[in-house]
Amino acid sequence: GTSVMWFRADLRLHDNPALRAAVEAGPDGVVPLVVLDDHLWGPGAGVRTACFARLLAEFDERIGGLHVVHGDPVAEVVRVARAVDAGTVHVAAAHTPYGARRDAAVERALADHDVALVRTGSAYAVSPGRVTKPDGTPYRVYTPFHRAWSAHGWRAPAPAVRSVPWLRPGGRTHRIPEVAVPEGVTLPPLGEEAARRRWRDWKEQVTQYDDVRDLPGVDRTSRMSVHLKWGTIHPRTLLADLDGHDSDGVRSYVREIAFREFYADVLHHRPDSAHGYYNPALARMEYDRPGESLDAWRTGTTGYPIVDAGMRQLAAEGWMHNRVRMIVASFLVKDLHVEWTHGAAHFMDRLADGDLASNQHGWQWVAGCGTDASPYYRVFNPTTQGKKFDPDGTYVRRWVPELRDVPDRFVHEPWTAPTPPDGYPAPIVDHAEERREALRRYEAVR
Ligand code: FAD
Repeated sequence: GTSVMWFRADLRLHDNPALRAAVEAGPDGVVPLVVLDDHLWGPGAGVRTACFARLLAEFDERIGGLHVVHGDPVAEVVRVARAVDAGTVHVAAAHTPYGARRDAAVERALADHDVALVRTGSAYAVSPGRVTKPDGTPYRVYTPFHRAWSAHGWRAPAPAVRSVPWLRPGGRTHRIPEVAVPEGVTLPPLGEEAARRRWRDWKEQVTQYDDVRDLPGVDRTSRMSVHLKWGTIHPRTLLADLDGHDSDGVRSYVREIAFREFYADVLHHRPDSAHGYYNPALARMEYDRPGESLDAWRTGTTGYPIVDAGMRQLAAEGWMHNRVRMIVASFLVKDLHVEWTHGAAHFMDRLADGDLASNQHGWQWVAGCGTDASPYYRVFNPTTQGKKFDPDGTYVRRWVPELRDVPDRFVHEPWTAPTPPDGYPAPIVDHAEERREALRRYEAVR
C-alpha cells in the first residue's frame, strides 16, 4: 500500500507520530505532500511566509524532494491521493479555526473516494480538547488547567523515522516559492537541525530560567518559540528532556510550555476568540481610531524607551522578549487607546513565531478581555517596568542607539535628563494622564 504524508508544518523526522503512521501505512511509498494554499500564502504574510518558505526549501533538500502542489487543499489532496492510489492521508491534527475547518472539508472529500484522513498527534504534548474540568467543560483559567494538564501527562516521544520509502508522483511539482525576508529582518537559523541544536545548547541553562526570564537585557530565554511554532521540534521532546529534573527553573519553564497548550485549548473551544473578544463584556470599550499614535508605536518612536526598544527588536528579529511584549501591548491599548486587534495583527505580521492562539490570547490578556484577565485597571507603567526589568538600560541601549550615552538613571525617562538625547522623540503621550483616561473608559463599560 501507499500513503500520503501531508505536511502543513512539522517538517521534522524526530518525534513525528504522524509521519511514523504514514510510513506504517505506506510500505510501498509515502508521498511527502505540501499544498501551497492561497489562504496561507496570500499577500502581506511577510515574515511568516518567509520562514515557511525557508523551512520548505531546507526540508526539500534534506529528504531529496517534497511533492509541492498549489491550490485548494480539498481538490489537491484528493487528486494526489488518487494518483498514487493511497489508502490514507496522514496529518498532525490542526487546531486553529482555519486548519480545523480545512481538514474537515478535506476529510469529507477524501471519504467520497474511500480514502481516510488520519490525524496522529498534534503540535502539543496534550492535544487541545483533552483536558477538561470534571464536568467535561473546558478550563477558562490557567492555574487549574495547568494542574489538570500536569496530571494528564504526555506520551514518550516517538522514535525518529530513519528511512522512508518516499514516493514522488509523476508530473510537475510546483516550485517552492522564494520569499524575501522583509527588509531589515534577520531570522535565526531555522529547521529541525537548528531547533535541536538550539535546544541542546540552551537546556543546561534551564535551572537559571526562573531568575532571568523577565530580564530582556540578559536575553537568556530559550527562544524555542519559533521552532515550536513551525513544529521543527515537538514540545514533548523538550518535556521529556526535562522530566525527572526538578528546580524552580524547570518548573517555571514547563509552566510556560503549558501556557502555550492552554491558549491552544482555549482557541480550540472558542474559535471565535481568534479575532473576537473572549470576554464580550469588554467589547463595548471605547477606543480611538488608529492613526499617528499607532504608527509611532509600530516604528518604535513613542518616546518611551522600553516600548521603542521592543518594537525595534520586533522589526529587526521577528521576535520580542515576553516581558516587553506585555509592556508594548499594554502601552498600545491603555496609553494610546488603540484596540488590541490592531496590535495583535501587527504582531502576527512581524513575528517569526506568530501563533494565533498565543498571540491573540496574549493580547487579550493584556487588554483585560482574555482568560485569567489581568484586571483592566492594572495598567503597566512603561517607566517603572523599564527600571525594574532593565535596571541598567542594557536592553534599551541595545535597540535604541539614540539612548546609548544617556546615564543609567535617565535611560528610562530621558525627558528628565539635563540634556535630552539628540534625535530621540519626546514622549507622545503623558502616561499618568492616559492611565486615568483608560480607567475612565473602563468604568464606563464595567
Ligand atoms: P521562553 O521564555 O523560553 O518560553 C519557552 C516556551 O514557552 C516559548 O517558546 C513558548 O512556546 C512558551 N511560552 C512562554 N511564554 C508564553 C506565554 N506567555 N504564552 C504562551 N506560550 C508561552 N508566543 C508565541 O509563541 N507566539 C506568539 O505569537 C506570541 N505572541 C504574544 C503576544 C503577546 C502580547 C504576549 C504578551 C505574549 C506572546 N507570546 C507569543 C508568548 C511569549 O511572549 C513568547 O512565547 C516568548 O517570548 C517566546 O520566547 P522564548 O521561546 O524565548 O520563550
